[in-house]
Amino acid sequence: MKCHRNALRRIPSVDRVLGAPVLHDLLRDEPRPLVLRFVRAHLEGLRARILSGDMEPTPSPEEVAADIARRVRERPRGLARVLNATGVVLHTNLGRARLAPEAVEAVLEAAGGACDLEFDLETGRRSRRGVHVEERLVEVSGFESALVVNNNAGGLVLALNELSQGREAIVSRGELVEIGGSFRIPDVMARTGARLVEVGTTNRTHLADYEQAIGPDTAVLVKVHRSNFRQEGFVSEPTLAELVEVGRHRGVPVLHDLGSGLLRAIAGAESEPTLAESLAAGVDLVAMSGDKLLGGPQAGILLGRRELVDRLRGNPLARALRVDKMTLAALAATLDLLEDGDRAVERVPTLRSLVATPAELESRASWIAEGLSAIPGMTVRTMPGLGEVGGGAVPARGLPTTMVGLSLQGMSARNLAEELRRMPLPVVARIVDEEVLLDPRSLDPGEDAECVRAVAEWSERRGG
Ligand SMILES: *Cc1c(COP(=O)(O)O)cnc(C)c1O
Repeated sequence: MKCHRNALRRIPSVDRVLGAPVLHDLLRDEPRPLVLRFVRAHLEGLRARILSGDMEPTPSPEEVAADIARRVRERPRGLARVLNATGVVLHTNLGRARLAPEAVEAVLEAAGGACDLEFDLETGRRSRRGVHVEERLVEVSGFESALVVNNNAGGLVLALNELSQGREAIVSRGELVEIGGSFRIPDVMARTGARLVEVGTTNRTHLADYEQAIGPDTAVLVKVHRSNFRQEGFVSEPTLAELVEVGRHRGVPVLHDLGSGLLRAIAGAESEPTLAESLAAGVDLVAMSGDKLLGGPQAGILLGRRELVDRLRGNPLARALRVDKMTLAALAATLDLLEDGDRAVERVPTLRSLVATPAELESRASWIAEGLSAIPGMTVRTMPGLGEVGGGAVPARGLPTTMVGLSLQGMSARNLAEELRRMPLPVVARIVDEEVLLDPRSLDPGEDAECVRAVAEWSERRGG
Protein backbone atom coordinates (compact mmCIF):
# COMPACT_ATOMS: atom_id res chain seq x y z
CA MET A 1 0.00 0.00 0.00
CA LYS A 2 2.87 2.31 0.93
CA CYS A 3 4.53 1.51 -2.41
CA HIS A 4 1.32 2.45 -4.14
CA ARG A 5 1.20 5.72 -2.31
CA ASN A 6 4.76 6.60 -3.31
CA ALA A 7 4.23 5.59 -6.90
CA LEU A 8 0.96 7.51 -7.05
CA ARG A 9 2.72 10.56 -5.69
CA ARG A 10 5.26 10.34 -8.49
CA ILE A 11 2.56 10.61 -11.20
CA PRO A 12 3.20 14.01 -12.81
CA SER A 13 0.55 16.70 -12.49
CA VAL A 14 -1.53 17.81 -15.45
CA ASP A 15 0.27 21.17 -15.42
CA ARG A 16 3.75 19.60 -15.47
CA VAL A 17 2.80 17.43 -18.43
CA LEU A 18 1.23 20.36 -20.28
CA GLY A 19 4.40 22.37 -19.61
CA ALA A 20 6.62 19.86 -21.45
CA PRO A 21 8.04 21.31 -24.70
CA VAL A 22 6.51 18.56 -26.90
CA LEU A 23 3.02 19.41 -25.71
CA HIS A 24 3.75 23.08 -26.07
CA ASP A 25 4.44 22.38 -29.76
CA LEU A 26 1.41 20.14 -30.05
CA LEU A 27 -0.88 22.84 -28.67
CA ARG A 28 0.01 25.08 -31.59
CA ASP A 29 -1.79 22.65 -33.95
CA GLU A 30 -4.36 20.92 -31.77
CA PRO A 31 -7.26 22.25 -29.69
CA ARG A 32 -6.42 22.63 -26.00
CA PRO A 33 -9.55 20.87 -24.64
CA LEU A 34 -8.73 17.86 -26.81
CA VAL A 35 -5.11 17.69 -25.58
CA LEU A 36 -6.31 18.14 -22.01
CA ARG A 37 -8.69 15.22 -22.43
CA PHE A 38 -5.84 13.01 -23.61
CA VAL A 39 -3.61 14.14 -20.70
CA ARG A 40 -6.28 13.42 -18.08
CA ALA A 41 -7.13 10.04 -19.61
CA HIS A 42 -3.45 9.13 -19.76
CA LEU A 43 -2.77 10.08 -16.13
CA GLU A 44 -5.88 8.21 -14.99
CA GLY A 45 -4.63 5.17 -16.88
CA LEU A 46 -1.29 5.42 -15.06
CA ARG A 47 -3.04 5.65 -11.71
CA ALA A 48 -5.19 2.63 -12.49
CA ARG A 49 -2.12 0.61 -13.49
CA ILE A 50 -0.31 1.47 -10.28
CA LEU A 51 -3.34 0.62 -8.15
CA SER A 52 -3.63 -2.72 -9.89
CA GLY A 53 -0.10 -3.50 -8.71
CA ASP A 54 1.87 -2.58 -11.83
CA MET A 55 5.37 -1.92 -10.49
CA GLU A 56 6.98 -0.43 -13.57
CA PRO A 57 8.83 2.82 -12.81
CA THR A 58 6.52 5.82 -13.06
CA PRO A 59 7.38 7.76 -16.25
CA SER A 60 8.70 11.30 -16.16
CA PRO A 61 6.53 14.24 -17.25
CA GLU A 62 8.55 14.39 -20.50
CA GLU A 63 7.99 10.71 -21.21
CA VAL A 64 4.28 11.04 -20.49
CA ALA A 65 4.08 14.13 -22.70
CA ALA A 66 5.86 12.41 -25.61
CA ASP A 67 3.48 9.47 -25.37
CA ILE A 68 0.46 11.76 -25.32
CA ALA A 69 1.72 13.83 -28.27
CA ARG A 70 2.06 10.66 -30.35
CA ARG A 71 -1.41 9.46 -29.35
CA VAL A 72 -3.03 12.79 -30.17
CA ARG A 73 -1.32 12.96 -33.58
CA GLU A 74 -2.23 9.37 -34.41
CA ARG A 75 -5.79 9.50 -33.07
CA PRO A 76 -8.49 8.18 -35.38
CA ARG A 77 -10.24 11.03 -37.17
CA GLY A 78 -13.50 11.03 -39.13
CA LEU A 79 -12.56 9.09 -42.23
CA ALA A 80 -9.00 8.20 -43.15
CA ARG A 81 -7.89 8.23 -46.74
CA VAL A 82 -6.45 4.83 -47.69
CA LEU A 83 -4.83 3.32 -50.75
CA ASN A 84 -7.00 0.47 -52.04
CA ALA A 85 -4.56 -2.15 -53.28
CA THR A 86 -7.04 -5.02 -52.83
CA GLY A 87 -7.80 -5.29 -56.54
CA VAL A 88 -11.53 -4.87 -55.76
CA VAL A 89 -12.42 -1.77 -57.73
CA LEU A 90 -15.73 -1.04 -55.99
CA HIS A 91 -14.88 -2.03 -52.41
CA THR A 92 -17.94 -1.33 -50.28
CA ASN A 93 -15.89 -1.13 -47.07
CA LEU A 94 -13.45 1.29 -48.72
CA GLY A 95 -16.13 3.65 -49.97
CA ARG A 96 -16.99 2.14 -53.38
CA ALA A 97 -16.46 4.52 -56.33
CA ARG A 98 -13.61 7.03 -56.19
CA LEU A 99 -14.82 10.36 -57.53
CA ALA A 100 -13.22 12.09 -60.49
CA PRO A 101 -11.24 15.25 -59.61
CA GLU A 102 -13.94 17.29 -61.39
CA ALA A 103 -16.57 15.80 -59.06
CA VAL A 104 -14.43 16.46 -55.99
CA GLU A 105 -14.00 20.06 -57.13
CA ALA A 106 -17.77 20.40 -57.55
CA VAL A 107 -18.37 19.07 -54.02
CA LEU A 108 -15.91 21.57 -52.55
CA GLU A 109 -17.57 24.41 -54.40
CA ALA A 110 -21.09 23.43 -53.34
CA ALA A 111 -20.13 22.66 -49.76
CA GLY A 112 -17.88 25.61 -49.02
CA GLY A 113 -20.46 28.33 -49.55
CA ALA A 114 -24.07 28.99 -50.41
CA CYS A 115 -25.31 27.51 -53.70
CA ASP A 116 -28.43 27.46 -55.88
CA LEU A 117 -29.63 24.15 -54.42
CA GLU A 118 -33.33 25.08 -54.56
CA PHE A 119 -33.09 28.52 -56.08
CA ASP A 120 -33.63 29.72 -59.64
CA LEU A 121 -31.06 32.42 -60.39
CA GLU A 122 -33.08 33.64 -63.41
CA THR A 123 -36.31 34.37 -61.59
CA GLY A 124 -34.99 34.71 -58.05
CA ARG A 125 -37.61 32.22 -56.95
CA ARG A 126 -37.53 28.88 -55.25
CA SER A 127 -36.84 25.91 -57.50
CA ARG A 128 -36.93 22.16 -57.10
CA ARG A 129 -33.90 20.50 -55.52
CA GLY A 130 -31.98 18.34 -57.97
CA VAL A 131 -33.77 19.66 -61.04
CA HIS A 132 -30.55 20.32 -62.99
CA VAL A 133 -29.06 16.93 -62.21
CA GLU A 134 -32.31 15.23 -63.13
CA GLU A 135 -32.34 17.03 -66.47
CA ARG A 136 -28.77 15.84 -67.06
CA LEU A 137 -29.79 12.27 -66.19
CA VAL A 138 -32.59 12.42 -68.71
CA GLU A 139 -30.18 13.65 -71.40
CA VAL A 140 -27.56 11.03 -70.62
CA SER A 141 -29.97 8.08 -70.26
CA GLY A 142 -32.76 8.75 -72.75
CA PHE A 143 -35.48 8.04 -70.14
CA GLU A 144 -38.36 10.52 -69.79
CA SER A 145 -37.81 11.54 -66.21
CA ALA A 146 -35.42 11.11 -63.29
CA LEU A 147 -35.33 11.35 -59.51
CA VAL A 148 -32.27 11.15 -57.25
CA VAL A 149 -32.50 9.77 -53.71
CA ASN A 150 -30.06 8.71 -51.00
CA ASN A 151 -29.12 5.27 -52.35
CA ASN A 152 -30.50 2.47 -54.48
CA ALA A 153 -32.03 0.65 -51.51
CA GLY A 154 -33.89 3.89 -50.71
CA GLY A 155 -34.97 4.19 -54.33
CA LEU A 156 -36.47 0.71 -54.23
CA VAL A 157 -38.28 1.42 -50.98
CA LEU A 158 -39.75 4.59 -52.46
CA ALA A 159 -40.77 2.94 -55.74
CA LEU A 160 -42.37 -0.09 -54.13
CA ASN A 161 -44.12 1.97 -51.49
CA GLU A 162 -45.60 4.30 -54.07
CA LEU A 163 -46.51 1.70 -56.66
CA SER A 164 -47.57 -1.27 -54.59
CA GLN A 165 -48.41 -0.41 -50.97
CA GLY A 166 -51.21 -2.74 -49.95
CA ARG A 167 -51.08 -4.39 -53.37
CA GLU A 168 -49.07 -7.10 -55.05
CA ALA A 169 -45.51 -6.95 -56.33
CA ILE A 170 -44.52 -9.99 -58.41
CA VAL A 171 -40.91 -11.18 -58.34
CA SER A 172 -39.11 -14.36 -59.43
CA ARG A 173 -37.86 -16.77 -56.74
CA GLY A 174 -34.54 -16.69 -58.58
CA GLU A 175 -34.17 -12.99 -57.77
CA LEU A 176 -34.96 -12.87 -54.05
CA VAL A 177 -31.37 -11.95 -53.39
CA GLU A 178 -29.32 -10.66 -50.50
CA ILE A 179 -27.19 -7.77 -51.70
CA GLY A 180 -24.83 -7.64 -48.74
CA GLY A 181 -24.81 -6.08 -45.28
CA SER A 182 -28.03 -8.12 -44.71
CA PHE A 183 -29.91 -6.10 -47.31
CA ARG A 184 -32.42 -8.66 -48.55
CA ILE A 185 -34.70 -7.75 -51.40
CA PRO A 186 -37.73 -9.68 -50.01
CA ASP A 187 -37.36 -8.11 -46.53
CA VAL A 188 -37.14 -4.63 -47.95
CA MET A 189 -40.11 -5.24 -50.22
CA ALA A 190 -42.19 -6.45 -47.30
CA ARG A 191 -41.42 -3.27 -45.31
CA THR A 192 -42.69 -1.07 -48.11
CA GLY A 193 -46.18 -2.42 -47.55
CA ALA A 194 -46.14 -4.36 -50.82
CA ARG A 195 -47.54 -7.91 -50.82
CA LEU A 196 -44.78 -10.01 -52.27
CA VAL A 197 -45.90 -12.63 -54.78
CA GLU A 198 -43.13 -15.08 -55.62
CA VAL A 199 -43.20 -16.88 -58.93
CA GLY A 200 -41.12 -19.60 -60.58
CA THR A 201 -38.36 -21.59 -58.91
CA THR A 202 -34.81 -20.75 -57.87
CA ASN A 203 -33.32 -21.74 -61.21
CA ARG A 204 -36.20 -21.36 -63.66
CA THR A 205 -38.93 -18.80 -64.04
CA HIS A 206 -41.03 -18.65 -67.20
CA LEU A 207 -43.04 -15.87 -68.73
CA ALA A 208 -46.17 -17.92 -68.07
CA ASP A 209 -45.38 -17.86 -64.33
CA TYR A 210 -45.66 -14.08 -64.35
CA GLU A 211 -48.72 -14.12 -66.59
CA GLN A 212 -50.58 -16.54 -64.34
CA ALA A 213 -49.72 -14.59 -61.19
CA ILE A 214 -51.04 -11.26 -62.49
CA GLY A 215 -54.42 -10.44 -61.01
CA PRO A 216 -56.60 -7.40 -60.31
CA ASP A 217 -54.45 -6.53 -57.30
CA THR A 218 -51.09 -6.69 -59.08
CA ALA A 219 -49.34 -3.33 -58.95
CA VAL A 220 -45.87 -4.02 -60.34
CA LEU A 221 -43.61 -6.66 -61.89
CA VAL A 222 -40.17 -6.47 -60.29
CA LYS A 223 -37.00 -7.58 -62.05
CA VAL A 224 -33.91 -7.68 -59.82
CA HIS A 225 -30.40 -7.89 -61.23
CA ARG A 226 -28.53 -10.77 -59.58
CA SER A 227 -25.55 -8.53 -58.92
CA ASN A 228 -23.36 -10.64 -56.75
CA PHE A 229 -23.79 -14.19 -58.00
CA ARG A 230 -24.36 -16.06 -61.19
CA GLN A 231 -26.60 -18.96 -62.08
CA GLU A 232 -25.39 -21.58 -64.47
CA GLY A 233 -26.72 -24.91 -65.73
CA PHE A 234 -30.44 -25.69 -66.00
CA VAL A 235 -31.62 -22.10 -65.76
CA SER A 236 -34.12 -19.97 -67.62
CA GLU A 237 -35.81 -16.62 -67.31
CA PRO A 238 -37.73 -14.38 -69.70
CA THR A 239 -35.92 -11.45 -71.25
CA LEU A 240 -36.58 -7.98 -69.95
CA ALA A 241 -38.36 -7.12 -73.20
CA GLU A 242 -40.67 -10.15 -72.85
CA LEU A 243 -41.52 -9.16 -69.31
CA VAL A 244 -42.25 -5.60 -70.41
CA GLU A 245 -44.53 -6.90 -73.15
CA VAL A 246 -46.57 -8.92 -70.67
CA GLY A 247 -46.72 -5.91 -68.35
CA ARG A 248 -47.92 -3.62 -71.17
CA HIS A 249 -50.55 -6.12 -72.24
CA ARG A 250 -51.91 -6.45 -68.70
CA GLY A 251 -51.44 -2.82 -67.70
CA VAL A 252 -48.80 -3.49 -65.02
CA PRO A 253 -45.54 -1.48 -64.91
CA VAL A 254 -42.15 -3.20 -64.77
CA LEU A 255 -39.64 -2.00 -62.16
CA HIS A 256 -36.05 -3.00 -62.93
CA ASP A 257 -33.52 -2.98 -60.10
CA LEU A 258 -30.44 -2.61 -62.27
CA GLY A 259 -28.09 -2.32 -59.30
CA SER A 260 -24.73 -1.31 -60.69
CA GLY A 261 -25.87 1.49 -62.99
CA LEU A 262 -23.64 0.96 -65.99
CA LEU A 263 -24.71 3.41 -68.71
CA ARG A 264 -23.38 1.52 -71.69
CA ALA A 265 -21.28 -1.57 -72.34
CA ILE A 266 -17.62 -1.30 -71.38
CA ALA A 267 -14.56 -3.56 -71.41
CA GLY A 268 -14.08 -5.26 -68.04
CA ALA A 269 -17.83 -5.41 -67.38
CA GLU A 270 -19.12 -7.08 -70.55
CA SER A 271 -21.63 -9.26 -68.71
CA GLU A 272 -23.16 -6.41 -66.72
CA PRO A 273 -26.62 -5.20 -67.85
CA THR A 274 -26.68 -1.58 -68.98
CA LEU A 275 -29.11 1.26 -68.65
CA ALA A 276 -29.24 1.43 -72.45
CA GLU A 277 -30.58 -2.14 -72.51
CA SER A 278 -33.26 -1.33 -69.93
CA LEU A 279 -34.34 1.62 -72.05
CA ALA A 280 -34.39 -0.46 -75.23
CA ALA A 281 -36.47 -3.14 -73.48
CA GLY A 282 -39.03 -0.46 -72.58
CA VAL A 283 -38.80 -0.82 -68.80
CA ASP A 284 -41.18 1.56 -67.00
CA LEU A 285 -38.92 2.36 -64.06
CA VAL A 286 -35.25 1.63 -63.34
CA ALA A 287 -33.48 1.89 -59.98
CA MET A 288 -29.70 1.95 -59.71
CA SER A 289 -26.79 3.08 -57.54
CA GLY A 290 -24.77 6.23 -58.15
CA ASP A 291 -21.54 4.88 -56.65
CA LYS A 292 -21.11 1.57 -58.44
CA LEU A 293 -20.35 1.43 -62.17
CA LEU A 294 -21.66 4.94 -62.71
CA GLY A 295 -18.57 6.04 -60.80
CA GLY A 296 -20.28 8.87 -58.91
CA PRO A 297 -21.33 9.61 -55.33
CA GLN A 298 -23.57 7.40 -53.20
CA ALA A 299 -27.07 7.93 -54.55
CA GLY A 300 -30.14 6.09 -55.74
CA ILE A 301 -31.14 7.00 -59.25
CA LEU A 302 -34.67 6.38 -60.48
CA LEU A 303 -35.38 6.74 -64.18
CA GLY A 304 -38.53 6.06 -66.11
CA ARG A 305 -41.87 7.19 -67.40
CA ARG A 306 -42.70 10.72 -66.37
CA GLU A 307 -46.03 9.82 -64.84
CA LEU A 308 -44.44 7.20 -62.56
CA VAL A 309 -41.45 9.34 -61.57
CA ASP A 310 -43.80 12.23 -60.74
CA ARG A 311 -45.76 9.94 -58.46
CA LEU A 312 -42.54 8.96 -56.64
CA ARG A 313 -41.56 12.60 -56.30
CA GLY A 314 -44.85 13.34 -54.56
CA ASN A 315 -44.51 10.50 -52.05
CA PRO A 316 -43.65 11.71 -48.51
CA LEU A 317 -40.80 9.19 -48.38
CA ALA A 318 -39.07 11.13 -51.17
CA ARG A 319 -38.47 13.91 -48.66
CA ALA A 320 -37.05 11.46 -46.14
CA LEU A 321 -34.71 10.01 -48.76
CA ARG A 322 -33.60 13.22 -50.42
CA VAL A 323 -29.96 13.92 -51.21
CA ASP A 324 -27.77 16.80 -50.09
CA LYS A 325 -26.04 19.46 -52.15
CA MET A 326 -22.70 17.66 -52.11
CA THR A 327 -24.19 14.52 -53.66
CA LEU A 328 -25.96 16.51 -56.36
CA ALA A 329 -22.81 18.47 -57.16
CA ALA A 330 -20.70 15.30 -57.46
CA LEU A 331 -23.34 13.53 -59.53
CA ALA A 332 -23.72 16.44 -61.97
CA ALA A 333 -19.96 16.64 -62.50
CA THR A 334 -19.72 12.85 -63.00
CA LEU A 335 -22.57 12.91 -65.53
CA ASP A 336 -20.71 15.60 -67.49
CA LEU A 337 -17.75 13.26 -67.77
CA LEU A 338 -19.89 10.24 -68.62
CA GLU A 339 -21.74 11.90 -71.47
CA ASP A 340 -18.69 11.62 -73.70
CA GLY A 341 -18.03 7.87 -73.76
CA ASP A 342 -14.37 8.09 -74.81
CA ARG A 343 -13.53 10.75 -72.29
CA ALA A 344 -15.45 8.92 -69.58
CA VAL A 345 -13.14 5.91 -69.43
CA GLU A 346 -10.18 8.23 -69.01
CA ARG A 347 -11.69 10.63 -66.51
CA VAL A 348 -13.95 8.54 -64.27
CA PRO A 349 -11.70 6.54 -61.92
CA THR A 350 -14.02 3.52 -61.65
CA LEU A 351 -14.22 3.15 -65.41
CA ARG A 352 -10.51 3.78 -65.82
CA SER A 353 -9.79 0.96 -63.38
CA LEU A 354 -12.11 -1.38 -65.28
CA VAL A 355 -10.67 -0.76 -68.73
CA ALA A 356 -7.03 -0.90 -67.59
CA THR A 357 -5.35 -3.45 -69.87
CA PRO A 358 -3.28 -6.38 -68.61
CA ALA A 359 -0.20 -4.80 -70.28
CA GLU A 360 -0.74 -1.50 -68.50
CA LEU A 361 -1.26 -3.23 -65.16
CA GLU A 362 1.83 -5.34 -65.66
CA SER A 363 3.96 -2.30 -66.26
CA ARG A 364 2.52 -0.53 -63.21
CA ALA A 365 3.03 -3.61 -61.03
CA SER A 366 6.67 -3.84 -62.20
CA TRP A 367 7.21 -0.19 -61.39
CA ILE A 368 5.76 -0.62 -57.88
CA ALA A 369 7.78 -3.81 -57.38
CA GLU A 370 10.99 -2.09 -58.36
CA GLY A 371 10.36 0.77 -55.93
CA LEU A 372 9.58 -1.62 -53.08
CA SER A 373 12.50 -3.95 -53.72
CA ALA A 374 14.82 -1.18 -52.47
CA ILE A 375 13.41 -1.73 -48.97
CA PRO A 376 15.84 -3.67 -46.74
CA GLY A 377 14.62 -7.18 -45.91
CA MET A 378 11.71 -7.02 -48.37
CA THR A 379 11.28 -9.80 -50.92
CA VAL A 380 9.26 -8.56 -53.87
CA ARG A 381 7.93 -10.38 -56.92
CA THR A 382 5.26 -9.84 -59.52
CA MET A 383 2.81 -12.51 -60.66
CA PRO A 384 -0.35 -12.81 -62.72
CA GLY A 385 -3.58 -12.72 -60.70
CA LEU A 386 -7.26 -11.84 -60.72
CA GLY A 387 -8.94 -8.75 -59.34
CA GLU A 388 -12.65 -8.05 -59.27
CA VAL A 389 -15.14 -5.27 -59.88
CA GLY A 390 -16.83 -5.63 -56.48
CA GLY A 391 -19.83 -3.68 -55.22
CA GLY A 392 -21.95 -6.59 -56.27
CA ALA A 393 -21.10 -6.10 -59.93
CA VAL A 394 -19.83 -8.74 -62.35
CA PRO A 395 -19.70 -11.76 -60.04
CA ALA A 396 -17.52 -14.82 -60.52
CA ARG A 397 -15.41 -13.29 -63.19
CA GLY A 398 -11.95 -12.13 -62.25
CA LEU A 399 -10.22 -9.21 -63.93
CA PRO A 400 -6.79 -10.36 -65.13
CA THR A 401 -4.01 -8.33 -63.56
CA THR A 402 -0.43 -8.43 -62.32
CA MET A 403 0.03 -8.41 -58.57
CA VAL A 404 2.97 -7.39 -56.46
CA GLY A 405 3.78 -10.00 -53.79
CA LEU A 406 5.57 -8.79 -50.65
CA SER A 407 7.18 -10.60 -47.77
CA LEU A 408 9.42 -9.14 -45.10
CA GLN A 409 12.13 -11.08 -43.37
CA GLY A 410 11.14 -11.99 -39.82
CA MET A 411 7.54 -10.82 -40.14
CA SER A 412 4.39 -12.81 -40.92
CA ALA A 413 2.22 -11.72 -43.84
CA ARG A 414 -0.54 -10.95 -41.38
CA ASN A 415 1.67 -8.61 -39.38
CA LEU A 416 3.06 -6.97 -42.51
CA ALA A 417 -0.47 -6.31 -43.80
CA GLU A 418 -1.37 -4.87 -40.41
CA GLU A 419 1.70 -2.61 -40.43
CA LEU A 420 0.71 -1.37 -43.91
CA ARG A 421 -2.79 -0.58 -42.64
CA ARG A 422 -1.33 1.40 -39.72
CA MET A 423 0.85 3.68 -41.81
CA PRO A 424 -0.07 7.41 -41.85
CA LEU A 425 -1.40 6.75 -45.37
CA PRO A 426 -2.74 3.22 -44.92
CA VAL A 427 -2.40 0.69 -47.72
CA VAL A 428 -5.07 -2.03 -47.74
CA ALA A 429 -3.82 -5.24 -49.34
CA ARG A 430 -4.78 -8.89 -49.61
CA ILE A 431 -3.01 -11.87 -48.05
CA VAL A 432 -2.69 -15.12 -49.97
CA ASP A 433 -0.45 -17.99 -48.87
CA GLU A 434 1.77 -16.03 -46.47
CA GLU A 435 2.29 -13.25 -48.96
CA VAL A 436 0.92 -9.70 -48.99
CA LEU A 437 -0.51 -8.91 -52.44
CA LEU A 438 -0.95 -5.47 -53.99
CA ASP A 439 -3.07 -5.17 -57.14
CA PRO A 440 -2.60 -1.90 -59.05
CA ARG A 441 -6.05 -2.19 -60.69
CA SER A 442 -7.90 -0.67 -57.74
CA LEU A 443 -5.31 2.08 -57.27
CA ASP A 444 -5.37 5.23 -59.29
CA PRO A 445 -2.22 5.34 -61.46
CA GLY A 446 -1.23 8.48 -59.55
CA GLU A 447 -1.39 6.49 -56.30
CA ASP A 448 1.34 4.00 -57.31
CA ALA A 449 4.11 6.39 -56.27
CA GLU A 450 2.28 7.28 -53.03
CA CYS A 451 2.08 3.60 -52.21
CA VAL A 452 5.82 3.06 -52.73
CA ARG A 453 6.67 6.20 -50.77
CA ALA A 454 4.40 5.27 -47.86
CA VAL A 455 5.98 1.84 -47.49
CA ALA A 456 9.53 3.23 -47.85
CA GLU A 457 8.88 5.83 -45.15
CA TRP A 458 7.41 3.23 -42.84
CA SER A 459 10.51 1.07 -43.32
CA GLU A 460 12.82 4.01 -42.58
CA ARG A 461 10.91 4.88 -39.41
CA ARG A 462 11.31 1.39 -38.05
CA GLY A 463 15.03 1.62 -38.80
CA GLY A 464 14.95 -0.77 -41.74
C1 LIG B 1 -26.05 -2.65 -54.81
C2 LIG B 1 -27.44 -3.06 -55.12
C3 LIG B 1 -28.51 -2.56 -54.35
C4 LIG B 1 -28.28 -1.60 -53.21
O1 LIG B 1 -27.79 -0.38 -53.68
P1 LIG B 1 -27.26 0.73 -52.65
O2 LIG B 1 -26.91 1.90 -53.52
O3 LIG B 1 -26.09 0.14 -51.97
O4 LIG B 1 -28.37 1.04 -51.72
C5 LIG B 1 -29.78 -2.96 -54.67
N1 LIG B 1 -30.01 -3.82 -55.70
C6 LIG B 1 -29.01 -4.32 -56.45
C7 LIG B 1 -29.35 -5.26 -57.56
C8 LIG B 1 -27.69 -3.95 -56.20
O5 LIG B 1 -26.70 -4.44 -56.93
